[in-house]
Amino acid sequence: MQVKDLNPQAVWSIFDEITKVPRPSGNEEGKLDKIRAWLVEFAKKHNLEYKIDKTGNVAIFRPAAPGYENCKGIVLQGHMDMVAEKGPGSTHNFDTDPIETIIDGEWVRANNTTLGADDGMGLAIALAAMIEPTLQCGPLEALATVDEETGLTGASNIEADMLVGDYLLNLDEEEDGVITMGCAGGLVSIFKFNYKPEAAPKDRTYFEIKFEHFHGGHSGADIHMGFATTTKLSSRLLWNIGEEMDYVLAKIDAGNLHNAIAHAATLVIGIKPEDKEKLSVVLNTFIAEVKNEYKRTEPKMEITCKSVDAPETIIDTDTARRVVNAVYAAPHGIAAMSMEIPGLVETSTNLASVKMREGNQIVVEMFHRSSIESGKYDLTHKCETIFRMAGANEIISEGGYQGWEPIADSHLLTVAKDSWEKLFGVRPEVRAIHAGLECGLFLKARPDMEMISFGPTLRDVHSPAERCNIPAVDKAWKQIQSIVNIIAEESK
Ligand SMILES: [Zn+2]
Repeated sequence: MQVKDLNPQAVWSIFDEITKVPRPSGNEEGKLDKIRAWLVEFAKKHNLEYKIDKTGNVAIFRPAAPGYENCKGIVLQGHMDMVAEKGPGSTHNFDTDPIETIIDGEWVRANNTTLGADDGMGLAIALAAMIEPTLQCGPLEALATVDEETGLTGASNIEADMLVGDYLLNLDEEEDGVITMGCAGGLVSIFKFNYKPEAAPKDRTYFEIKFEHFHGGHSGADIHMGFATTTKLSSRLLWNIGEEMDYVLAKIDAGNLHNAIAHAATLVIGIKPEDKEKLSVVLNTFIAEVKNEYKRTEPKMEITCKSVDAPETIIDTDTARRVVNAVYAAPHGIAAMSMEIPGLVETSTNLASVKMREGNQIVVEMFHRSSIESGKYDLTHKCETIFRMAGANEIISEGGYQGWEPIADSHLLTVAKDSWEKLFGVRPEVRAIHAGLECGLFLKARPDMEMISFGPTLRDVHSPAERCNIPAVDKAWKQIQSIVNIIAEESK
């Protein structure tokens, strides 16, 4: 048995062709030219109209079946790029070599590389629908976006003329029996403080305090997990120290990426030699309290303190206090839970990093997320207000992308749920995620569009163990045809 002959052949034969076309993410560097050319060939071979936008996304159009010309249109969408990862020893060249596919029981995987079923399988299903002769349908579009995996650039730049239709089925879900109906938008805030470096006073004893071995995690998917963040903890410790004694701050360095929960921090402080005992009391109390608060989620955490040589300079005390107060006061974590989907984080923020930068600046970064646009901006403004009150010299909120607000009673979702139940005898699980998806970005161009996301089960995506479940592909294919038929019949 070959991959192209698996059931349903209509889908697997196209997937087999897609795996032969190199398509690692990197549209800007021309890495998607081959798959774009292949998509154009596909359209030409089947006499379908197509369009390429200036970003490089490709849309292929199937006219309505006779008698269904006035029906509602549906966009079937997947991304054309794939994550290029290979295991040790692999000599695979993602720019030139076809993916070597292997049938392994109920699964299809690759030979020690990513398979690219994320999202080659989504594309294969969309394209199969464009040529399936038995389908009763209104106008259909297959949309292939670029670089979903590296910044959602295809979806970010999409314009309304590439989204022709009333409904959109995103085929980039990785769990059979699950329908995704919402995601979070995001916005980064950057707060800059200018400080004056001052000669480090010689009459102080200096200590380096390190926060290490914290869990960290993804600032969206893990924000509800109760992990500590070392940006907040280090400023809390400094605040506590400041209540008990006079200290100077020579170094503050916490966190790193804006979309990661901070898992390490380093502070260097100077205190009067006579306060050494007091510092050790404050520190030990703090460590005991924090270890107790996070005993379930941070069993490996370590907070250590050792004496160090006097540094050359310190941060002027006024600026240091304002930074510490603002970071301590600013929120981190869940701000609101969804009332539409139980258990979904609706709005959150990640106090991602506090860093000393060139030009005598201390820069604080936060990343706010919400599935509701107004919720995202409300939280952003609250944080801006805190840092404005603390006298930040510059406040920038940028890189914003839109969320996809879950609507539990949307028509498309109702059709999809009923169809799944009729086909397979069970209600699908409906969920939303607290991270970004292409669907949120499509809403910017087409705020009126109803969307859902689903697809066959994939495991270990973005790794050489990536595999695609064969029976789940058949289910997704049946579901697509059923939804298309229902929408065509009801809007005829
Ligand atoms: Zn994907």
